[in-house]
Amino acid sequence: MELKSLIRDITDFPQPGILFRDITTLIGNPQGLRHTIDLLDEKCRSANLIPDYIVGMESRGFIFATPLAYQLNAGFVPIRKPGKLPAPVYSVSYDLEYGTDSLEIHQDAIAPQSKVLIVDDLLATGGTAQATVELLHKIEAQIIGCAFAIELIALKGREKLPNIPIISLIEY
Ligand code: 5GP
Repeated sequence: MELKSLIRDITDFPQPGILFRDITTLIGNPQGLRHTIDLLDEKCRSANLIPDYIVGMESRGFIFATPLAYQLNAGFVPIRKPGKLPAPVYSVSYDLEYGTDSLEIHQDAIAPQSKVLIVDDLLATGGTAQATVELLHKIEAQIIGCAFAIELIALKGREKLPNIPIISLIEY
């Protein structure tokens, strides 16, 4: 199955000049969803990326991170926008094209030195994943890798994640 054919391109979203890769058409297709999770599972296993926990970034990251965690017998830990998590958090701010944003994780989400895999729908500039790496350093996680459904190669997100094994399924 050609997963790329299930991704819909939306021009000028969320701002003029941006070409948005819409995954709702991929996950809304029963075979597309199953095949995406199965492929992520296979690629993680063959790269020996077997985590204790998978962290997923709000909110599209949750869609891929949770079923993958289930498949790999790992726990799922949410990385959320500010003010959403109820217990004490660590927080990291990161730069966007215009302004800044923050991400948070529960301070007690994992046991220190646990093996953690970062999962999101898409790697673009790498800013979101880099902020997640910083959060995981604060909770003393052992980061074993990152997995994305989609990678926008030209934006060189990998350069922000040096020395971390990275898996992606669909490249633009
Ligand atoms: P980065 O921080 O790597 O520049 O951007 C990646 C983050 O922005 C991901 O959390 C992803 O959900 C979101 N994102 C940026 N561009 C797109 C896009 O074209 N399609 C989708 N589905 N998400 C995007």
